[in-house]
Amino acid sequence: MRKPFIAGNWKMHKTVSQALELIEELLRLVAGEDEVRIAIAPPFTSLYPVAQRLKGSNVELSAQDCFWEDEGAYTGEISPLMLAEVGCTYCIVGHSERRHIFGEGNEEVLRKARALLEHGISPIVCVGETLPEREKGQAMETVKHQLHGSLKGITKEEMTRVVIAYEPVWAIGTGKTATPQQAQEMHAFIRDWLGQAFGGDIASSCSILYGGSVKPTNIQGLMAMEDIDGALVGGASLDAASFAQIIKGGKR
Ligand code: PEP
Repeated sequence: MRKPFIAGNWKMHKTVSQALELIEELLRLVAGEDEVRIAIAPPFTSLYPVAQRLKGSNVELSAQDCFWEDEGAYTGEISPLMLAEVGCTYCIVGHSERRHIFGEGNEEVLRKARALLEHGISPIVCVGETLPEREKGQAMETVKHQLHGSLKGITKEEMTRVVIAYEPVWAIGTGKTATPQQAQEMHAFIRDWLGQAFGGDIASSCSILYGGSVKPTNIQGLMAMEDIDGALVGGASLDAASFAQIIKGGKR
């Protein structure tokens, strides 16, 4: 049985003091909530102070991105080694904003995922089609290509620690959510692909999150779908009350 998983991606929001304020309220609202796995991904500057506050709580820490080397002359980058020491158990890779604004491709996503796994951090690998790709009937082809390129050579053991997030680009930050049926169709496709690539056991245990304008009002409809195991939440995770409602709505 896959435990529901709700992760909040804060993107480039919140100073350290704002992050600590938000986390304080969130911890109060979700205290004792153990039916849902919860993670938050604050900006790099807040990871350490937030990690101190999360110790012993039911909320885990995720980073939003990383570089694949441990250390070196890579100005501006942060390594999985650094993230592990801070206490990150997850790291988002291949978010559509990284892919589309910063030109990141599957090869980089794969290198990051591998480096994270080496340091005991679970990558949350994001995939998803653009609106033109969906309109041309190429959504599944696009996602298949991203899965193939971003997970090439990952072992079965490693795959037990990977989370997939399906985030249709046209639904991120736009207020347009995929219908539960549209999301389910793609999640089932992803699970089927995982089965072919890694075997049935991996496919049935892998958490596949949906992302794209998830709110307290639509989480239950999404979670009612067989292959939707949780959500990667952007905007609505910036408010403790709405994120806590999504977490509660994420229970099966
Ligand atoms: C995201 O950033 O991953 C996301 C899904 O954003 P939003 O919930 O704001 O659409």
